[in-house]
Amino acid sequence: MTDRRTVLTVALSAATILPFARGFLATPAIAAAGSFPYRLTEAQWRAKLPADAFAVLRQEATERPFTSPLNDEHRAGVFRCRGCALPLFGSATKFDSGTGWPSFFRPLPKAVGTSTDTSFGFTRTEVHCARCGGHLGHVFNDGPPPTGLRYCMNGVALTFSPSPKKA
Ligand SMILES: [Zn+2]
Repeated sequence: MTDRRTVLTVALSAATILPFARGFLATPAIAAAGSFPYRLTEAQWRAKLPADAFAVLRQEATERPFTSPLNDEHRAGVFRCRGCALPLFGSATKFDSGTGWPSFFRPLPKAVGTSTDTSFGFTRTEVHCARCGGHLGHVFNDGPPPTGLRYCMNGVALTFSPSPKKA
């Protein structure tokens, strides 16, 4: 038999838990809608970026392989988002994948986010800037040690800042 005390406890529990459950579920939905800390209107992005960078960062285009000067960038330094200048990859994690796109085995901490991309009839993991949401490329599981990951990036979505030369 259910007494009054049991009913009251159950009611309180539901009232306590539900708001937290809602908050938890709401978080991915907000991220999916493109709520990133650095935001511009489409017109502002078009004014800020060259056409090829806009097509990649804001429209998820892919640059032609072997076209990016960053393929041959071997200096020490940091690769930044061309959209918002957030540092994304350190030069120590860059490797020659032979694909014709700048490739890295690990991003800087909290620099990128991922989503599932099912375009072109197969499933890939899309990679974007954690600050502006700009599309950068994809990540695959055929990379080198220590991570086994290959972050295959569009060079046009990146800029390179060399480290200051040591005296
Ligand atoms: Zn960015």
